[in-house]
Amino acid sequence: MPKIIINEEKCNGCGLCINACPAAILFLNQKTKKIQYANIESCLECKACEIQCQREAIFIDTLS
Ligand code: SF4
Ligand code: SF4
Repeated sequence: MPKIIINEEKCNGCGLCINACPAAILFLNQKTKKIQYANIESCLECKACEIQCQREAIFIDTLS
């Protein structure tokens, strides 16, 4: 299973990763306006989120 690593200091809540995710597991925390994930077991490890993010705020660690 991959690890989704989110750098909340860098994330500006733009939502590009949400739109890019084919598994629809990313969502915006309405309180903090930062990205969160659910159902990580559905992650396809496609890295579309990582590629779309302009702020290097989300990484997919596929090694684990
Ligand atoms: S694309 Fe990057 S900056 Fe934008 S919401 Fe996603 S993680 Fe945050
Ligand atoms: S790697 Fe792909 S499936 Fe996993 S969270 Fe990112 S965009 Fe979604």
